[in-house]
Amino acid sequence: METIKKKDIRALTKEQIRAFFVAQGDKAFRGNQVYEWLWQKGAHSFEAMTNLSKETRHQLDTNFVINHIKVDQMQRSSDGTIKNAVQLHDGLIVESVLIPTKTRTTACVSSQVGCSLDCRFCATSRLKRMRNLNPDEIYDQVVAIDNESRLYFDRKLSNIVFMGMGEPLMNYNNVLKAIDKITSPEGLAMSPKRIIVSTSGVPKMIKKMADDEVKFKLAVSLHSAIDEIRTSIMPFNATFPLKDLREALQYWYSKTKSRITYEYVVWDGINDTQNDANALVEFCRFAPSKVNLIEYNPIDDGEFQQASNKAIDMYVTTLERSGITVTVRRSRGKDIDAACGQLANKSN
Ligand code: SF4
Repeated sequence: METIKKKDIRALTKEQIRAFFVAQGDKAFRGNQVYEWLWQKGAHSFEAMTNLSKETRHQLDTNFVINHIKVDQMQRSSDGTIKNAVQLHDGLIVESVLIPTKTRTTACVSSQVGCSLDCRFCATSRLKRMRNLNPDEIYDQVVAIDNESRLYFDRKLSNIVFMGMGEPLMNYNNVLKAIDKITSPEGLAMSPKRIIVSTSGVPKMIKKMADDEVKFKLAVSLHSAIDEIRTSIMPFNATFPLKDLREALQYWYSKTKSRITYEYVVWDGINDTQNDANALVEFCRFAPSKVNLIEYNPIDDGEFQQASNKAIDMYVTTLERSGITVTVRRSRGKDIDAACGQLANKSN
């Protein structure tokens, strides 16, 4: 007997689901009902779609599957941070993190299984890049964290950062589709202004984002504004040097007029001198900028160590003197390896 290869129904647009029903001699609006079950009500089976007839549910079941993620393991940090190990439909695992503050809940989500890039200070870079996440797999991580936020903190998710595993601009189309769903009234209806896509700096894609007139915010993991040093810690900088990154960011700013945030870790003996801080000021002068100085969380071999408080203070003074907004961000969830740069499937 010939078996029908079932399609993932969540890869279809609403129009495509409507067209499916029309082709079956049914009403197009059934497609709207199914779409609502899939995206607003988070149904994991056709059986759960109780306003459809038994025949319709059977028909869907014969033709489609609903791929969905499963939170395989959840760890809670002493500071309230939650890390989810998320199992995908093919058994691969990614991680996402809920970061609570007094007033906000932020979801830090993954965009790839492993990463295409090779930042030497990052635990994820040690995992082979297996594949890009699909839009629904990104969306589901957000929904899972929204549910946890309601359950444990009695409030809905307020912000999203694409700073988990993977380089989001290397999976641009799927990230964009996921954000479309997250911001759509038929999804989570979140404001794009509450979403930050953080890139290690892929110039061509930054320009594309500007051309696409995206409404979310951009952050760049810079870590050094001196090519030689940046290449030594982020080897892909040899391919995408700072000159190209800066030109792309200038283009982004000219199109969007949106402030650029730089993520920056100061490491002992790597980028902790006055010369490094001056180079950073020079790099970000061209547009309104904000620098987040992030506390570093050593990964196993301890090659990279957080710089002294004196070095951090020197950066703060240098940036403030030049009129650049600067914040020092303490790390969250260190005890469960959920902090920046620590996501590496240890829970796996
Ligand atoms: S820091 Fe980001 S871009 Fe660099 S290897 Fe890690 S996950 Fe990939």
